[in-house]
Amino acid sequence: MLGQIRIVLIGTSHPGNIGAAARAIHNMGLSDLALVDPRCDPRDPEAHSRASGADILIETSRVHDDLGEAVSDCTLVVGASARARTLPWPMVTPRQLGERLPHELASSDSRIALVFGREDTGLTNVELQRCHAHVHIPTNPDFASLNLAAAVQVLTYECRLAWMASTTGATTDTVAQSPAPQAPLAIDSDEPLATHEELEHYFDHLERTLTDIGFHDPAKPRQLMARLRRLYQRTRLNRMELNILRGILTATQKCTNHGKHRPN
Ligand code: SAH
Repeated sequence: MLGQIRIVLIGTSHPGNIGAAARAIHNMGLSDLALVDPRCDPRDPEAHSRASGADILIETSRVHDDLGEAVSDCTLVVGASARARTLPWPMVTPRQLGERLPHELASSDSRIALVFGREDTGLTNVELQRCHAHVHIPTNPDFASLNLAAAVQVLTYECRLAWMASTTGATTDTVAQSPAPQAPLAIDSDEPLATHEELEHYFDHLERTLTDIGFHDPAKPRQLMARLRRLYQRTRLNRMELNILRGILTATQKCTNHGKHRPN
């Protein structure tokens, strides 16, 4: 399914964006990249540097003169747009787009193109009107335009979720949440939660105490502190609980010191 999805970048002007888009596409397991009339050299070192190992996608990408040529064999063409246009067009959300993929790509002859526009001006109205539907990634309405590669990342991620769901019979939402957290980060306390800094003080105090009582040897840590951190952090300690735990450590240390000084 993922091999039937083509990412089409029109008129990209920054080679770094081509590289970053290639990386995003490869990360999500897609492999078909088409460039329409790029305004930079896709083999520029900046493209390769931003591709960070996904260079194969740049090397196998095809360059076309116009959109029609790049999507000629596609059975569904969806344009990614940062803003609403004057002539309303069928709109899908990124999740709806993903959820349609298994159906749209049921036949191995089917191909989908996701079309992305120029960094400065996006897609022209003519290009948008060549698309069956438009997809808009919900963003801050006052600052709606994502970086090109970031937009590619979001939509290819939805493609991957949909593909994972289709191979397991799960829904996209379930796949997005998996693996199910063993202990949800639920908070059922009216007390304010302990802050990161307070927890760090506690872990310092704990390590000193465990060392003092001979339970912990910092020279042979055996991941003890890491395991204890995982245990405590799983419980989302609140401030009062943390105070109790610190009180126990203080009392333990006092006891140990008494023990040390107690005459035999
Ligand atoms: N300034 C341009 C946007 C350029 S961003 C404009 O106003 O149209 C480059 C491309 O990234 C866009 O053409 C679009 O394909 C994609 N993109 C950016 N933000 C997006 C969003 N919120 N939803 C969908 N696609 C988006």
